[in-house]
Amino acid sequence: LEVRGLVKRFRIGRFPRTRVLVAVNHVDLHVGAREVVALVGESGSGKSTLARVVARLETPSAGRTWLEGQEVPARLSRGELLAYRRRVQMIFQDPFASLNPVHTVGYILSRPLVVHGLATGKGVRARVEELLEACGLTPARSFFDRYPHELSGGQRQRVGIARALAVRPRLILADEPTSMLDVSVRLDVMNLLLDLKEQEGLSLIFITHDLAAARYMSDRIAVMYAGHLVEVGPADEVIGEPLHPYTRLLKRAAPKPEAGLQPERLEGAGDVPELGALPPGCPFHPRCPFARPECRQALPPMQSVTPSRQVRCVLYGARP
Ligand code: SF4
Ligand code: MG
Repeated sequence: LEVRGLVKRFRIGRFPRTRVLVAVNHVDLHVGAREVVALVGESGSGKSTLARVVARLETPSAGRTWLEGQEVPARLSRGELLAYRRRVQMIFQDPFASLNPVHTVGYILSRPLVVHGLATGKGVRARVEELLEACGLTPARSFFDRYPHELSGGQRQRVGIARALAVRPRLILADEPTSMLDVSVRLDVMNLLLDLKEQEGLSLIFITHDLAAARYMSDRIAVMYAGHLVEVGPADEVIGEPLHPYTRLLKRAAPKPEAGLQPERLEGAGDVPELGALPPGCPFHPRCPFARPECRQALPPMQSVTPSRQVRCVLYGARP
């Protein structure tokens, strides 16, 4: 996947008091074949919107997208959207809300196979069983006629993963897929995603506010703040030696592994600016301990610090 200059604006409020909220602000990002990229940031940073735009659940306001070298138009016809869904799937945060409660697991998983014409007759049931087994829901037969409310949160998220996998996509966007699950099953679900990524040879964008989860899951990390990407690089390097002051703040706020979970928003460190009322210049300047006068003037460009690391901050001049 390659996106360049991706923008998503929303108009909020009522005339004449409408404001424009820029949830995704000129994002450039690529995800390689079989690569896992973690998108990290506090709640309200725009990461879910970025995923929804890439998945074309929202239409981008500007920017270009390529998938497997082919450009994907901003607006897709119904037929094009259906074809795109076969290649790009999303897994949602809330496994309770994302599965229709009136349908059985068997029905939920057979739908995409039928809609996309991927199986017929007995083949549907066979493929659903295969998906259930691949996602650790065994014995598969015992899940066929169950309803979402009869499953645990972890099992429900496995159904969500199986549903995304049904069409054999090339890219899965997983939006905080473990944040609503019990701590005890989070690692299982993360490992399932990694195993499936290997087996199916797909690429993954893993969205999280938890740096430890990002490091565990990903090859590269992209840090998002107020709609902008502010740092991108190999996961170990970004966490081992974060460059952007915001990434450093996230790392300092990260609990020790045993101490529990990273909060969705950092306490006592100032607030994420409202996307409809961003300060001029670097959006992080009101919270940044290193802010200089020029930080209030203009948005710093994304700069390459090494061939694999980029950071959007005036502290890092381009190095030859
Ligand atoms: Fe801080 Fe300035 Fe860098 Fe923004 S550009 S993160 S305000 S030092
Ligand atoms: Mg979100």
